[in-house]
Amino acid sequence: MAGERFDLVVVGAGIVGLATARAIRDRRPDWSVAVLDKEPRVGAHQTGHNSGVVHSGVYYKPGSLKARLCLEGRAQLLAFAAQERIRVGPVGKLIVASNPSELATLGELERRAAQNGVTSVRRLDVAALAMRLPGVAGAGALDVPSASIIDYPAVAHRLAERLAAAGVAVETGSPIALADRTDDGWRLEGGGRERRARYVVNCAGLEADLVAEAMGTRSPIEIVPFRGDFYHLSPRLRARVPCLVYPVPDPELPFLGVHLTPTVDGELLAGPNAALALAREGYRRGQWEAAELARMAMFPGTVGLARRYGQFAAREWMRSWSRATYLAAIRTLWPDALPEDLGERTSGVRAQAVRPDGTLEDDFVFVRGERALHVLNAPSPAATASFAIAERVADAAGVTRADGGAGGPGRTLI
Ligand SMILES: Cc1cc2nc3c(=O)[nH]c(=O)nc-3n(C[C@H](O)[C@H](O)[C@H](O)COP(=O)(O)OP(=O)(O)OC[C@H]3O[C@@H](n4cnc5c(N)ncnc54)[C@H](O)[C@@H]3O)c2cc1C
Repeated sequence: MAGERFDLVVVGAGIVGLATARAIRDRRPDWSVAVLDKEPRVGAHQTGHNSGVVHSGVYYKPGSLKARLCLEGRAQLLAFAAQERIRVGPVGKLIVASNPSELATLGELERRAAQNGVTSVRRLDVAALAMRLPGVAGAGALDVPSASIIDYPAVAHRLAERLAAAGVAVETGSPIALADRTDDGWRLEGGGRERRARYVVNCAGLEADLVAEAMGTRSPIEIVPFRGDFYHLSPRLRARVPCLVYPVPDPELPFLGVHLTPTVDGELLAGPNAALALAREGYRRGQWEAAELARMAMFPGTVGLARRYGQFAAREWMRSWSRATYLAAIRTLWPDALPEDLGERTSGVRAQAVRPDGTLEDDFVFVRGERALHVLNAPSPAATASFAIAERVADAAGVTRADGGAGGPGRTLI
């Protein structure tokens, strides 16, 4: 097998992998770069199955990577979308306390928003909420005008087109199954082809820990798939809900709860819940994979996960299987929702890293390997933050500009 040679191979053509290839290529136009994805098209997994929200940065712990990169990435993403004429809807968001006991958490979110630099957030009391959006139920809300919606698959496709035009090999149908260390980098094999790379960035999403492991980096965290089911809501509700409507999230969890989301296609979605999936790409209810079950059985975090989040897991599982339970979640925000408002059901699967003690990893995680960088936790808001994550990965890989930069001309780890 004669291997093609690249300076850099990025594994995974989701929005994070594509943005990373762009950032590194921008710093080093003299490098040969490939982005390889196992699927026949780019953005086939999380990037193509999410809520399409450009987050404002309200939720995240001040000082965390999520907080910083969400704000930075959001600005870069919106600038790219404007330049490339990608559809964006500046719809705004309401975070609604469904009862007075949630007002304290709402207050904490308001403080976080201020600390994170999210301007123009406004607190609404019951009367102001009713004026702002008739039909929504709550004891108070935060109005976040800067939240937007976007077409993430279109962003991924445009990134891929721009990369290809700049000479980057964006190769779909190219799984990475095996990786061997060579004197000057890596030999990657898969799909009957071999490539050599001086440096590898692993942005494999739901399989990122498996790819890292194949490359000799055994991290204590493992990715656990959480399926999120969406219902497409009726035109009746679509006409009445012009903005994003979110519940107050459980501060112990990295999930935001079932919300109402207008899309750039003019649809209205409810979702996603967060049900533990038994397959990495477990888009269907009841789907399972022997290999994933075996991994879960071996992983020390599984017991802690069950102990800490058992009640939450049972509730989310019920929401997956019972339309009535799902409808009840929607009705805490929108009491007028009816069973016939729930139309087609679709799903996405989140790659959520879990620590060995069973806690859900709350921040983005990048782990350095030998001549490699592994993006091991990039769940929401990583689509919003993708352009800033890309710069961070390029920094972590030590890639500075060929024409000089912070670390001196062309200094890299390679
Ligand atoms: C239900 C849901 C709702 C969400 N809502 C939002 C939101 O509204 N806003 C937001 O900012 N974020 C949201 N997110 C999170 C966001 O979608 C992800 O954080 C983001 O898409 C991660 O991008 P990625 O490139 O890391 O992963 P992915 O898009 O999953 O890309 C990884 C790629 O790696 C490829 N791959 C895997 N293994 C291999 C291999 N061995 N060889 C080659 N290729 C491989 C896969 O085919 C895939 O294309 C949501 C996610 C989900 C699931």
